Amino acid sequence: MTDSPTDVLVELDGVRKEYGDVTAVDGVDFDIRRGEFFSLVGPSGCGKTTTLRMISGFERPTDGTIRLDGRDSEAVPPNERDTNLVFQHLSLFPHMTVGENVEYGLKKSGMDAEERRSKSEEYLSLVDLDGYYDRKPNELSGGQQQRVALARALVNEPSVLLFDEPLSSLDRKLRKQMQVELREIHEKVDGSFFYVTHDQEVAMTLSDRMAVLNEGRVEQVGRPEEIYREPASPFVADFIGDTNLVAGTVNGGTVTVGDGGFSFPAGDAADGDVTVSIRPEDIEISDSGTPSFEGEVVERYFQGDQTQYVVDPETAGLDPITVVVKGRETPIEQGDTGSFVVPDDVPVVFDD
Ligand code: ADP
Ligand code: MG
Repeated sequence: MTDSPTDVLVELDGVRKEYGDVTAVDGVDFDIRRGEFFSLVGPSGCGKTTTLRMISGFERPTDGTIRLDGRDSEAVPPNERDTNLVFQHLSLFPHMTVGENVEYGLKKSGMDAEERRSKSEEYLSLVDLDGYYDRKPNELSGGQQQRVALARALVNEPSVLLFDEPLSSLDRKLRKQMQVELREIHEKVDGSFFYVTHDQEVAMTLSDRMAVLNEGRVEQVGRPEEIYREPASPFVADFIGDTNLVAGTVNGGTVTVGDGGFSFPAGDAADGDVTVSIRPEDIEISDSGTPSFEGEVVERYFQGDQTQYVVDPETAGLDPITVVVKGRETPIEQGDTGSFVVPDDVPVVFDD
């Protein structure tokens, strides 16, 4: 995809937010493009909600610029921004019907009753709640209430819809179902979705692109596949998916892990100390030939469609390594010693 300036809807440029001594957001740059599903993902406390609140206008940056559709947003109050927020906790009015909840914003903007009702029903239908207009929120399941909240945000047809961990209170099954529905709804509307979550799996599943935030700083922006395959830092490698981070040394174009452990080509990495990321599912059980390492299986977790092993390598200077074997077979038992191969193209190398 090529970027033309008009593709960009929201632009953050060196955005900082300080609360007294606390730096919540520490100079953040990223763009949200028109119509895309963009996630901001990172651990609890890394500054996600603060960033979202600055885009919505509920907080002002201490420094830096946020442009909405090319315009500096500094002077634009929250209610005049073309953004709408779906809250972390459900915030439906219990005394109003589902339909009245959805229409609430339209009423405030002065639309007449008939048009309001028709818009409300259109968006209830979009979230798969045809015929629920006259129900009360407490007659609905948690997932349905979530969809009402979504319809209420969508009905104003904002160019950006902002989500702050909207699925975090749902159980796993409902969360998975809502993920699929969110994706489908996003495809049906014109606006961009900006989605904040600590759950990397949700972010990977839903996003066209995502930014990984760590302690108020963006470590990487990209498509989920890019970030997973080519993480920009050990933090990203570890946070997005699971990985083994192993200490190594580069010498003359070769990386060696641990104290004289297995080696592989160093690519562009310069001589010196490095950190090596090796995804558990990329490590193979060795049947023949020379293994990369051998070790005792100290833990084994059967997970149905895959089995996770924690292996204590015999190589000096290596911590236990996690290996995931796909499929229902469990070729090694706990307490056994296994031989493992790390193919040369698997490790990602970071200069220390
Ligand atoms: P996240 O949403 O990623 O969990 P937040 O943006 O809520 O993170 O918070 C980032 C940091 O800023 C945290 O250390 C938090 O305690 C701090 N923080 C957030 N809001 C305030 C506030 N109103 N006053 C002081 N500190 C705050
Ligand atoms: Mg938050």
